[in-house]
Amino acid sequence: MKKHNFSAGPCILPQPVFQKASEAVLNFNDLGLSILEISHRSKDFVEVMETARNLALEHLGLQEKGYKALFLHGGASLQFLMTAYNLLENKAAYLNTGTWSDKAIKEAKVLGEVVEVASSKNENFNFIPKNYSIPSDVDYFHCTSNNTIFGTQLQSFPETNAPLVCDMSSDIFSRQLDFSKFSLIYAGAQKNMGPSGTTLVIIKEDILGKVSRAIPSMLNYKMHIEKDSMFNTPAVFPVYVSMLTLQWLKDLGGISAIEKVNNQKAKILYQEIDRNPLFDGFVVNKEDRSKMNATFNIKKPELKDSFDSLIQEAGISGINGHRSVGGYRASMYNAMPLESVELLVEVMKDFEKHA
Ligand code: PMP
Repeated sequence: MKKHNFSAGPCILPQPVFQKASEAVLNFNDLGLSILEISHRSKDFVEVMETARNLALEHLGLQEKGYKALFLHGGASLQFLMTAYNLLENKAAYLNTGTWSDKAIKEAKVLGEVVEVASSKNENFNFIPKNYSIPSDVDYFHCTSNNTIFGTQLQSFPETNAPLVCDMSSDIFSRQLDFSKFSLIYAGAQKNMGPSGTTLVIIKEDILGKVSRAIPSMLNYKMHIEKDSMFNTPAVFPVYVSMLTLQWLKDLGGISAIEKVNNQKAKILYQEIDRNPLFDGFVVNKEDRSKMNATFNIKKPELKDSFDSLIQEAGISGINGHRSVGGYRASMYNAMPLESVELLVEVMKDFEKHA
């Protein structure tokens, strides 16, 4: 039976990527060797790394603009610390919009002063705070573009003179933005890019070298740039699968093409959440709704079991909400086809008819 994977991450990836990745496990580039057994210094893998780094910059429109792309270890969670380690001299400003922002703030506080410019924590992060001001004397401003757990997404980014640092783990490559406004972008691969195990970091080089602390090599962006993202053994397979996914996106027409599909998917699902009297959206302001992760509840908890059976019968998986929110979360990343969201909408309609 066909499965429709709405998991929040690790999550669905394009089927052709799975196909190519599985072939490379058996025989990579017709070398008679598996991608899993070759040296990361081999010509074939160096080419993979370079292609992946270039494709990432190309998709974001950041080639030849002073940016470097790195594939690092440690997940987005290590970037919470690494950004502060490399950029925080005195004071940094953070917008607190969810669990991951909160964790980023905690790490930065280890190294310096953090100004939390606004927070929706008291409301269980069910909206995006607006109308805050960013002090003029901060080393950088940090935000999370898409809050995977709560289903909120920043629709605009503040104008500030401070370097803009953004955790785009769960919406990178999903929508067009002026990426040149950002000085540093990071994203764990395991949503729109590849399997878990590698993290993309995009850095404008001129923001580095401004802190006085000594930075250990593995935490030092300059070191990773100098070594072309090969300071130590990279996550060979996750980087390879990321490269395949970035190529798949390019063949499809890039971010502008996928954004149209993403808009359509989000539109039909939210329409149903709003129309169907049995469901309630979690996010209070509609303009804050995420196009990647839609969070919603069943109004009558006693009907949960019957909805869950319908979901299961339809082959829909990974749709349970995060434990801190409850209810349901339908994640609709780039690789999710419109038809899967259409099916979920059908199941929701069916549920209403039979409830
Ligand atoms: N930031 C966001 C927005 C996330 O969704 C996640 C994980 N889902 C993280 C950070 C943490 O990522 P990792 O597990 O790669 O450290």
